Amino acid sequence: MSEQLKKEPGVSQPASSEGPKKSAPKKPLFRGKSAPKKKAEDPKKAETPKKKPQQSPNPGAKKTQQAPKKQPKRPVEKVAEAVEAVTKPAKKLVEGGGKNNRSRGKLRVIPLGGLNEIGKNMTAFEFGNDIVVVDAGMTFPDEEMLGVDLVIPDITYLAKNADRVRAILITHAHEDHIGALPYVLRELNVPIYCTPLTAGIIKMRLSEHRNLKKVKIYDKPAGSTFKVGAFDVEFIRINHSVPDAVSIVLKTPVGTVIETGDFKIDTTPINGEMIDLTRFGELGKEGVLLLLADSTNAERPGFAMSEQKVGRALEVQFKGTDKRIIVATFASNVHRVQQVINIAAKHGRKVAVSGRSLDNIVKVTTELGYMDIPPNTLIDINTIKRYPPDQLCIITTGSQGEPMSALYRMAYGSHKQVEVCPTDKILISASPIPGNEKSVYSLINELTRRGAEVVYDKLAEMHVSGHACQEELKMIMALVKPKFFMPVHGEYRHLKINAGLAQSTGVQPGNIFVSEIGKVLELTRDSARFNGTVPCGRILVDGLGVGDVGAAVLRDRLIELRGQ
Ligand SMILES: [Zn+2]
Ligand SMILES: [Zn+2]
Repeated sequence: MSEQLKKEPGVSQPASSEGPKKSAPKKPLFRGKSAPKKKAEDPKKAETPKKKPQQSPNPGAKKTQQAPKKQPKRPVEKVAEAVEAVTKPAKKLVEGGGKNNRSRGKLRVIPLGGLNEIGKNMTAFEFGNDIVVVDAGMTFPDEEMLGVDLVIPDITYLAKNADRVRAILITHAHEDHIGALPYVLRELNVPIYCTPLTAGIIKMRLSEHRNLKKVKIYDKPAGSTFKVGAFDVEFIRINHSVPDAVSIVLKTPVGTVIETGDFKIDTTPINGEMIDLTRFGELGKEGVLLLLADSTNAERPGFAMSEQKVGRALEVQFKGTDKRIIVATFASNVHRVQQVINIAAKHGRKVAVSGRSLDNIVKVTTELGYMDIPPNTLIDINTIKRYPPDQLCIITTGSQGEPMSALYRMAYGSHKQVEVCPTDKILISASPIPGNEKSVYSLINELTRRGAEVVYDKLAEMHVSGHACQEELKMIMALVKPKFFMPVHGEYRHLKINAGLAQSTGVQPGNIFVSEIGKVLELTRDSARFNGTVPCGRILVDGLGVGDVGAAVLRDRLIELRGQ
């Protein structure tokens, strides 16, 4: 399949007139340009070779070294015409911005995705001659974007300033934070810094794309500090629905910035590693210029429940039943998968997994030591017939009723190994994501029709969110005491509510910036203001542009993305 895929045009780019297509640094994706040394822990000696030949302030002078290589135009055009009309609402924002107002001694914060939308998170931080990017995520196409499989941020601004981009820093391995990497890395020849599990998952993703195997990825465990250009970077451990997620601290010449990434405060996390609240407090004491915080759950009062609570609810379902148990959940929720495995083992059941994304996650997390499978527990899905129902547990993808997922195939009788019957108890350990209710409930109807007992979120606490609710957000704000605040990662109402929370914890209303993509926030030691815009928007990618994976796999992955 890869054969035909690679030639097909796939990424459509309805982007701004000056799209990034001209710069296609195609093969040596990483030449060690400005990578800090691997052992860059000591900020002093890790002086990044940041200085590139000084960029001319003259806007005309920039693309010298990014002339197009002979590569035929990358998959960037096709679906464009079909969808362009409907998909370029952000175009109005495009207006150059950038270097002319790149004032010395000021920090520029440039959101390229994740504001007024869920997904495709990406923010650039620019100081002087250096740019670092935090996250490179994807999101879903709207209903009307026919033929489009995923949507990524418009990175025209970064492509135009490619020689100043020093690194991409990744908060965690969800697709709305890493999903655009395969495309962004074709434009930007830069290293990635992230925690070890995030690195493992990114490598797995990149291996599906040609020419991306040489990208330099530096493992930096939570707690690491290192230097990238003008920025001293630090990763702080936090809790989320995928392990090894971090907040990112950028110490800049004008002050400290913290981007929380997706987080929650789980006082009883599965791996025992609680969010490093102490570190947030220390930074708060030292003084934090700007906090950018996750707004996903800003509408929800109180605290998000601990992941352990789901474990208890799941275990109740295992007790006293002699039925075969099938658990559907999100593959990336490694702690959930781990809990199911532990509970199954404790109750004398073997575990088989079904679904490619689950297979991959189990493999990579086990290899890297993020999953601990009790001996003699995991079995091949092809061998399940050897075990009676009460000695079996199957973990599957498909909790959102997505067509062609493993659970869907089970429900509709087309799964190769699993036929659902009255001796099955099916636990849906996920909530239907808004928009998916219909498919989830028809799946449940179908499973029930086959005689299976189905337990889902309306009947028991089968799922908890990975995002901070109001009390958690306020706690972080209280610890960090930022001078300025920018809510990120959410639709407008989420951002607004999060802004209100910040105000309630003492941030001056005039110091809170509810922003939008493309809008530049410029900061000095004691001031912040919006100043200009850069090109931004959505780039559409169709299934043929996604590398050596089929559209079905991609769907699966997109559903994953939604389900954090
Ligand atoms: Zn996430
Ligand atoms: Zn996210």
